This record gives sequence, structure tokens and C-alpha cells, in this order.
Amino acid sequence: MSLAAGVIRRLDEIVVNRIAAGEVIQRPGNAIKEMIENCLDAKSTSIQVTVKEGGMKLIQIQDNGTGIRKEDMDIVCERFTTSKLQSFADLSSISTYGFRGEALASISHVAHVTITTKTADGKCAYRASYADGKLKAPPKPCAGNQGTQITVEDLFYNVTTRRKALKSSSEEHARIVDVVSRYAIHNSGIGFSVKKQGETMADVRTLSNATTVDNIRSIFGNAISRELIEVGCEDAKLAFKVKGYVTNANYSMKKFIFLLFINARLVESTTLKKAIETVYAAYLPKNTHPFLYLSLEIAPQNVDVNVHPTKHEVHFLHEDSIIERVQQHVESKLLGSNSSRMYFTQTLLPGASMSASEIMKPVAGSSSAAQKSGDKVYAHQMVRTDSRDQKLDAFLQPLKRPQIDLSDCPLSELVGDQHLDRRGPHDTEMAELNDLDMLEASEHYANAEVSGTVPMEAAASTSADIVPPRKRPRKETDEEMVADEPVKNMTATSTPKRRIINLTSILSLQKEIEAQAHTSLQDMLRNHSFVGCVSPQWALAQYQTKLYLLNTTKLSQELFYQILIYDFGNFGILRLSESAPLYDLAMLALDSSDSGWTEEDGPKEGLAEYIVQFLQKKCEMLKDYFSLEIDEEGNLTGLPLLIDNYVPPMEGLPMFILRLATEVNWDDEQECFGSFSKECSMFYSLRKQYILEESSSPADNDPVLGSTSWRWTTEHVLFKAFRTHLLPPQPFAEDGSILQLANLPDLYKVFERC
Ligand code: ADP
Ligand code: MG
Repeated sequence: MSLAAGVIRRLDEIVVNRIAAGEVIQRPGNAIKEMIENCLDAKSTSIQVTVKEGGMKLIQIQDNGTGIRKEDMDIVCERFTTSKLQSFADLSSISTYGFRGEALASISHVAHVTITTKTADGKCAYRASYADGKLKAPPKPCAGNQGTQITVEDLFYNVTTRRKALKSSSEEHARIVDVVSRYAIHNSGIGFSVKKQGETMADVRTLSNATTVDNIRSIFGNAISRELIEVGCEDAKLAFKVKGYVTNANYSMKKFIFLLFINARLVESTTLKKAIETVYAAYLPKNTHPFLYLSLEIAPQNVDVNVHPTKHEVHFLHEDSIIERVQQHVESKLLGSNSSRMYFTQTLLPGASMSASEIMKPVAGSSSAAQKSGDKVYAHQMVRTDSRDQKLDAFLQPLKRPQIDLSDCPLSELVGDQHLDRRGPHDTEMAELNDLDMLEASEHYANAEVSGTVPMEAAASTSADIVPPRKRPRKETDEEMVADEPVKNMTATSTPKRRIINLTSILSLQKEIEAQAHTSLQDMLRNHSFVGCVSPQWALAQYQTKLYLLNTTKLSQELFYQILIYDFGNFGILRLSESAPLYDLAMLALDSSDSGWTEEDGPKEGLAEYIVQFLQKKCEMLKDYFSLEIDEEGNLTGLPLLIDNYVPPMEGLPMFILRLATEVNWDDEQECFGSFSKECSMFYSLRKQYILEESSSPADNDPVLGSTSWRWTTEHVLFKAFRTHLLPPQPFAEDGSILQLANLPDLYKVFERC
């Protein structure tokens, strides 16, 4: 019996390096993170990332920073060469990102690296290629701007196991976009972009003059950016500072998005994450989560920076105490945001007038104001201000939540029976869809179905397939992919995919809205408690100690207008199951007395024909920007999905189509978008006449559902959206759209008895 000892051989140094490098750089996203940090260390203000096949084929990062001196070019890819660390003692006070000089070296062991770089005082740029940490040939002079471009090709070409461990290129791409997005948010003041090679549209692009909130908006969408609270506190004893933005208690989504930077480095901290979750758990509906961006600064000597580069998980001294302070601070901000939303009005409405109209003046000693200032609140002043409390309706109707039954909606005539697998009142709306959340969303949409029939012979039978907002609906192929396979498409991409709209026309329409906003009305809408519906047109709400009568029609019209302007180019689609011929719709409209048609206008058939042709000419633009789809035969096939769980009253569709041709100014860009949005919002608004006609129709033989459906929609869809999405214009305070009825302490006893 012989026990042959295993032969121990020294591993080839190159193999060792390769394995070690694979540990440092585990996937394209890591490499990009390291390289972005180098760009930041080099004081760049523009960082542009181009990738191919999820970074596996190509990563290219171009910056405009200091550049690398020619004489340093031969060693930058060697291990432990760094320009940032002179002695071990420096470790504890390091303020740049890199300090090991390991990133470029590692990358060069597992990929083909080429660096082109020019310093400010260099006469020209130089280019050099590297393999296994070494220069392949002396740097060659070439043309180039100041800064550095690093190209990494065929990542892991020589490490099969690493290559195999990678996910699909779309998943790696998603991770890359995610990393760049996060650094872009943390580094406002620096313009970032990331795109696929060969594409013109970037997946993410931020401008160097944008604020943090601008960047959150362009990456994660308006719905999140509108709900942000700024946080910030410091503690000298614990030697830390934190600042950032977190969503308030009105916002929730299925996925927790947590951007955490510690000393400017993107990291993870499970303990902090859990601590934050506990804070929000008290405020958000079950199984929903917030969005947070936190930047912590901790005395460098207290952070364990010398961890392995791939260990994103960090630990620091006084961890528990610091986390507890952060928790307390976030909680206090969450609570504060209910009684005072000054922050919102300030960020959303720079320079907006604060003049509160008489009716909106907060009541001195009202419950929330009093609590905040620590004054005593007397029992007789205490009134219900929590919107989660019982509504008036609760006493009048069965508690059962209705299925959306559009047969009781004005749609019934046009759309017939419909079923919408509606989400609960707390669920996020379409507009709030964070793209990181798209996967879940697409599952939801896969279940959503609206169907029905239309009374017009050939006209709109509308079963709406809801298609989530599109990413880059530029190319036909893209369009089709989204339309046919929303789920698949969404599965493949789990990163932000919002189109960024920088059209001057749209931006100035947004400014108009902001300039008009009435801040105290907004405050009231944000914090109101819904009381009940009076009619489809009117509803009651309470704010502080006052009771208001609100014109749902007007408010919803303004809401849809603002959504059209703010989410321009990013709508989901309400797809009609059977297309509605524009010709028939136009004829219906012309037949109605509202159209004002007279003999002098010429034969209706001719006009209808003209309208079809006219709209068909605009169909590409309508589809691209407004998700209004018209097919080649002149049928309407889809409408924009403005908020989830809401289908416009289809009775208004014929008139909408007619007015598109007659009322919209198609010649001037801004006028066109503005007037289109006006018409569209009129069509979408909740209108009295349709509901009343409908509820007296014999088909509506279910009095309970028949009356609750528009009520449910008013409360849980429209008023919920007013809270978060509406910047009420000044005139609403004067034109009777919002009226103060009473001061509640006077009515208190009446309500008590209900
Ligand atoms: P570290 O960042 O830890 O110093 P790296 O391997 O990431 O190590 O980078 C090595 C060196 O290459 C850096 O110290 C820096 O001098 C130089 N370098 C890398 N990328 C850039 C860049 N984009 N601009 C200027 N210098 C760079
Ligand atoms: Mg580095």
C-alpha cells in the first residue's frame, strides 16, 4: 500500500494573477465602478460609458479629468502602483476612492486594456495597450482631448470559469446601468452617460448642471422625485454626517431601492438597510418599500476601508449608534412631512408665490400645527386629520371593495362589461412605476384585462391590455418587442429605462405649471383626508380643521393635463382589444349636437374622412409621445395610460377625436403639445354628465356597485393622485374649484354622531 503524496507545484505567477484578478473584478459592473472612481479621483466633470454585450465584449470609459502623465503610463497597470498612497499611514486618512492600485492591474490580467490619455500640459495624447499588467509596446503619440479613455475588451477571455459565472448580457448591462445611475445621483455636478455601443440614445444621461433631485427624477422618474424628503444630520461625538433624499409615507413600491454611499463609495450595509426597513414598516402598506439615497460621511479612521474590493458590505466603528441616529432622523422626517411639506413646495416650485388665499389660511392651534409647535391641544380642537381613518362612505355603503365594473361607468355604452384586476388603494400607480420594479409590474399587467363591446356597429370594442411605459420606442423593432412581449422584455431589463425628455417646449410647459402652482392649496391636497363623494363632480375633503368642497371634474382634468406634460413620452398604453375606426368615431361626434356641425361645414362623411387622414398623418408622433395608437387602416388601437386603474370615460372618445382635428394647434410645437394635452385631459377627466346618464340606464341594475364604482375611483384613484401628482393652479382658489365649507370644530358634534 503506497500513499503517494500529492505533488505540490507552485502555480504559475500569471495564473495566480489571473485568479486574483477574477476575485477583484467579478463582473463588468465591478470594473466599471472601479474605473468611474478613477475618473472621479481625476476630477472629471464628464464621464461617458459605452458598453457592448453587457460589458463583456467592450467597456469604454471616457473622462475629461487630469489625464495620466506619459512617464506613468508604463506602470499604471501594475499591481500596487497608485498615485494616491504614499505610505501606510495614509490609509487612515485616504480621501480618494482608490488606494491599492489594484483595479487597473486586475482588469489588465483578464481583458485587453487600451488607455488613451492627455494631461493639461501634455503636447499630445498617448495611447498604449496592456496585457497582464504590462505595457505591450511604448505609448504612441496620438490626437486626443484632455482626459482619459480606457477601453476594456473581451473581459475574462482567459478565465472561462469567471465568464461562465456571468449572467446574460442583458442582465450585466442592467447592472452596469444601475451602477452608473447610482454614481450619477451621488455626483450631481458631473455629467454621466451610459449607452450601448452603436445606439444614439443613452440608457442614462445626467447633465453637469443638474441637481441631485433632477438626477433622481431623470433616472427613477417623477413619481419618486416628487415624493422626496431631504434628510440630513450630523453628530460630532459619533463623528459622522448623513445627507440624502428619502421618499415620504405616501410613496411605496414593491422593491426597496437603497442607494448608499459611505465616504463617496457605493457600498452596502445590510444592518443599515434592515434598520431603515423597520422605520418604514410602520408607515407603508405591507410588503411595500421606500426609495432612499443616503450619503454617509464617517471619519476615515473609523471605516474599515481595507476590506477586499469586492466586499461592498462595509463596517464601521460605532455602527450601532450611528445606525440608530440615522433611523431616528429618518423617522422624524417622515413624521414631519405629514404636518409640514414646505420642503416639497420649495423644491417643486422654486420662486412660486406663497400667497395663501384667505380660505386656505391654516388655523392657528389646529391639531397638527399645534402639535408641532408643542402647544397644548384642547379636546374641542381635536379633529380627525388622519386620512386613513373612516370615510363618510364607510357608513353609507358596504365595506366590500368593488371590482372595477366599468358597466357602471360611463364607458358602459362604448366599452361594455369590463374587469380590471385592480391593485389595492396603496399600490403604486403606473406613473410611479420604477423601472427597477418593472418586473413585478409586468406580471401585474399581464393579469390586467379590460374588455367589452361598443354599441357602434363596427366601433370600439375595448379590451385594454396595459403595456408598461416604453423604454426607447424609437425604432420599429423596439416598439414591437414591447408591444408583443412586455413581460419578456421587462424581464430582460431590470434597470431604469425612462426616456429623458429635454424638449424646450415640454420643459416650458412644465415651468408654466410650476409658476402657477398654489402652494397652500397644494399643501392641503397633499395632506387632506378624503371625506366622501357628493356627486361625480363634487367631493368633500378635510384639511386641518376645515372642510372643503372640491370639483373632481376640474381637478382631475388638471391632474391629467399635468401628467401628460410631466410624463410626456413615457406613458404606458391602454390597448383596445378591438380597434375603433376613427371614421365612425368622427361620425358619432359630428352627429352629436355638441359638435356644432352645420350644413355649411359640408357633408359629415367628407369631414370624417378628412379627420381620419389628418390624424393618420400625425400617428407616429401621437404614438411616440402620447401612446395614442392609430393603425394603418385608420383605427384607434391604444390610448395613453395616465394613471393605473383609470380608464377614461369612453363616451367622450368621439368628441375627443373630433376636437383633435379641430382644436389642436398642430403648427407650433409647444402649442401642439399643450393643446393636445388640454384636449386629452378633458376627455380623461371624470365628468358628471356621463355618469348620470349611465346610472339612469336600465343596464345598471346593481345599485351598490353602480354607485360605488365612480366613488371608489374618485377616492382611491383620483384623490390619491391629487395628493401626490397635482400642483393646483392659483385660479382654483378663486374660481370655485375648491371651496371651504366649514370649520370643523363647529361641525364636530355632527360628525361624531355619524
Ligand atoms: P488606484 O485607483 O487604487 O490608485 P487603479 O488601478 O484604479 O488604482 O489606478 C491606478 C492609477 O492609474 C491611479 O492611481 C491613477 O494614477 C491612474 N488612473 C487610472 N484611471 C485614471 C483616470 N481615469 N484618470 C487619471 N488617472 C487614472
Ligand atoms: Mg482606482
